[in-house]
Formats: sequence, structure tokens, C-alpha cells
Amino acid sequence: MVHEIVIVGGGFGGVRTAKILSKWAGGSNHHIHITLIDKSRYHTFYPNLYEVATAHLPEVFGHLPVNFFDLKSSAICPLEDIFLDDLNVTVLESEVLGVDFKKHKIELKNASALHYDILVLGAGSETNYFNIAGMETHALPLKNFFDALKIRNAVDEAFYRIPKNQLVKVVIGGGGFTGCELAGELIGYMKKLAKIHGHPEYYAECLIVEAAESLLGSASLWIQKRAKARLESLGVKFKFKSGIKDVEDGEVVLADGSRIPYDVLVWTAGVKANDLAKTLFGVKLEKGSCLMVDKHLRIMPYENVFGVGDMTYCVDESTGKSLPMTASVAIREAKYVAKNIKKMILKKPLIDYKPYHAGFVVPLGGKYAIMEIGGLRLSGFLPWALKHLVSLHYWNELIGWRRALGIWKRGLRIYTEND
Ligand SMILES: Cc1cc2nc3c(=O)[nH]c(=O)nc-3n(C[C@H](O)[C@H](O)[C@H](O)COP(=O)(O)OP(=O)(O)OC[C@H]3O[C@@H](n4cnc5c(N)ncnc54)[C@H](O)[C@@H]3O)c2cc1C
Repeated sequence: MVHEIVIVGGGFGGVRTAKILSKWAGGSNHHIHITLIDKSRYHTFYPNLYEVATAHLPEVFGHLPVNFFDLKSSAICPLEDIFLDDLNVTVLESEVLGVDFKKHKIELKNASALHYDILVLGAGSETNYFNIAGMETHALPLKNFFDALKIRNAVDEAFYRIPKNQLVKVVIGGGGFTGCELAGELIGYMKKLAKIHGHPEYYAECLIVEAAESLLGSASLWIQKRAKARLESLGVKFKFKSGIKDVEDGEVVLADGSRIPYDVLVWTAGVKANDLAKTLFGVKLEKGSCLMVDKHLRIMPYENVFGVGDMTYCVDESTGKSLPMTASVAIREAKYVAKNIKKMILKKPLIDYKPYHAGFVVPLGGKYAIMEIGGLRLSGFLPWALKHLVSLHYWNELIGWRRALGIWKRGLRIYTEND
């Protein structure tokens, strides 16, 4: 009998689950076929998106756009390339519209329904605008490669459009990880653009508007202070305790009624589980649209349906807190889901998921990052180098050393242009 495993989402969780199961089935006599469905053709390496959003490419000035392909491949990779040698994996580019849990069928856009024996849901998350009036219309999100390009182009265009004796102002809504990483790199990009377009450097401003009273609220105090000091030294400005109430063309309106002008507005303050979860019958949702999973990462009450990554709501019993939406959590969950699918096929008891907090590495402009892993705290070049070595390791696991190294080297060359 062939076990039909369907995985929804070719992100960190989905791809890792498929890779582990595919290898296992290749080396065992258990017949499985995996269908990995994603609405996009690409697997995205999100930790590099802030670099894409601030990449300076000479192609803008009429040279051959060779670097653009390097930039693209440093952050996204076609899913069919990742599974080229995995003959028991079929990659399907289609949007999942819903699931019929009774009939074990996936409803797809522009394709007929697909049967599964075991299903893994890993459709990730989407930007949450919290119903702030005007936010979705005026702000640029940073949630995929094309968003990153839009930010990059909008900032470049602002320097081109705005007279040289006026301030060019980029406002970032949200001082979380994405907002801080982006600000750290953006200020270098803005200084570079100022030079290229003939603006004085002091007419380039990057401001983080944050509702809380500090940056990186979910990190330790040490990280919070270090990050603020680092961004300040780069010239980033802050406005704390300033919730955004609504957004108008060229102006952000704060809860207290005051207004902040902007030329480019980027929204990084909100993320929510994929709305696909809300269409699923009989599942339990937490925090809006996160799928509640049991200790084996199954989406109850369905015993043959598992959840991975940002879409799931999973509590770490040692802290009582829900797990953060991070790639490391998605990858760890994928490893457990793959193990439990193997157990299910072998008709053995499932294992319990054990969360583990991997710590933080926060790159903040140039070749600099802050790291807190276990009890170890470091800042400067070393954590930055570590972050990039981890990304090389990640790509190696998906596409092999030779290709991973080439992509990594070419990406680094572009990423360090503004430093
Ligand atoms: C800018 C940015 C920077 C980040 N930096 C870091 C970092 O440095 N470290 C870290 O640990 N985490 C980071 N994260 C978070 C991390 O990327 C996510 O937690 C991780 O991607 C979650 O993995 P996932 O598999 O759940 O979802 P994803 O990796 O988002 O994959 C979900 C996939 O599902 C597909 N999909 C969605 N809906 C459908 C549908 N209806 N039908 C078919 N396919 C669908 C999507 O196209 C996508 O490919 C960052 C996130 C962002 C946005």
C-alpha cells in the first residue's frame, strides 16, 4: 500500500517535513508518496529579506541586471529544485482553499480535489494590520521577496523624487525583530542613496514607531538595551509608547492625535496565522487563527492531520507561553511531525513534542549582530558571521554544498555593499 502524504506549504516547516520523510522512505521498504502544495513556486528564506529590501544593485544605473539574479537566489529557491532528486515527492503549485476532513480531500484553486491519507498543514502566517484604518493601503509589508523589492524600490524612488533640500523620511511601524533588522540595514542603504542622488546625508531619516516602551519586547533586557544602543549609533530614531491609530497619505496618526509625516511607510508590527485556518471545520483556534495542536502536533480532533510552524498554537509547558513564530520552531516541529508520521505508518506509539528555545541572533546593520543563546551573550562580528554560517548550513541541507556555497557567496557580496 502507498501512503499518500499531502503537505500544505513549502516553507520552513513543510519543506523540512517532506525532506525527512522522502529520505526515510527511500531507505526503507515503506511506500509513501508526498505531494507538497504551495501557492508560490518558491521556498523563501525570510531571514534574508531585510537584506533584499536594502540591497544596492548597480543594475539601477543601466548595467546588466546580473546581480538581480544573485539577489533573488539568495532569498528564494524554486521548490522543484529542492526536490529534484526526491522521486517520491511531487511539487504542486496551487492555492489550497480548504480541507474536507471527512472525505480526506484538499480543495484546490484551479485544480481538482486531492486525496490524502496523512495531511500536514504548514501554510505559515500573514501580515496583520489590526484593522488600523489606511494601514493596508499606504504601508508596505515585509512578508515575501516581492515585498522586499517594493520597499527597496520605494526608498530609491523617494530619493529620486524628493528635492535635495528636503528630508527623506522612512517610518517603520513596529520595533520587533523585523523592524529593528530592517532599520539597521536601511539606514546604510539610505546613506548610500543620499550620496548617489546628491542629497546631504543628514536629510535621510529612518524612524521606528513602537507602541511599547522598548524595542524587541519578547527578548531579554540585555538584548533590548544593546539593540537600541546599536541602532542609535547608526542614526536610527525612535518614538516609543506610540500606537498608530490610522494612516493617511503621507502621515501617520498616533493614538494621542499627533501626526508623523513619512515618505515611505513600512509595517512590520503585526503577524497572524494564515487565514486558511479559519476555513477549517471542527478545529480549535487560538490567538485569532492559530491551529491548536496536541502533544504529538496533531490538529485535533483529526488523528491523521498534523500542524507545523506559524499556523500552529503550541504551548511550552515549562514556561506556560505559546511558542514564537520563528523558523527554528517550524523546523523543530517538522522533525517531530516527520517522526510521528513514520511511527503512524509503522503502527507504533507517537512521541511527545518537546519544545526548545534556540535563542536569538539579531543582525543590526553592517557586519554586526547581537546574540543570546543559552547563557551566552555576544555582540559584534562573530554573531553576524554565525548567522550567515547557519544560513549556509540551511541551504546546504536543501540543495547541497556546491550550489549552496555559490548562492551564499554571491548573496553575501550584495548584502555587504552598504556596510
Ligand atoms: C522578514 C522576516 C524575517 C524573519 N526572520 C527570521 C529569523 O531571522 N529567524 C527565524 O527563526 N525566523 C524568522 N522569521 C520567521 C520565520 O520566517 C517563520 O516563522 C517561518 O517561515 C515559519 O515557517 P512555516 O513553515 O510555518 O511558514 P512559511 O515558511 O511562511 O511557509 C508557508 C508556505 O505556505 C504557503 N501558503 C500559504 N498559504 C497557502 C495556501 N492557501 N495554499 C498553498 N500554499 C500556501 C506560502 O506560500 C509559504 O511558502 C522571519 C519572518 C519574516 C517575515
